[in-house]
Amino acid sequence: MNCPTCNSENIIKNGSIHNGKQKYACKDCGRQFVLEPTNCISQERI
Ligand SMILES: [Zn+2]
Repeated sequence: MNCPTCNSENIIKNGSIHNGKQKYACKDCGRQFVLEPTNCISQERI
């Protein structure tokens, strides 16, 4: 698993967000991110 911003492997767990998904933080660039962002847009192409 790598940071989506700087591609670093120095990832640490950083709690979870409101819907229970695991949140991570990059130790190199300080960016916080979720492994599976809630992208439902592609399923709403009607
Ligand atoms: Zn990073």
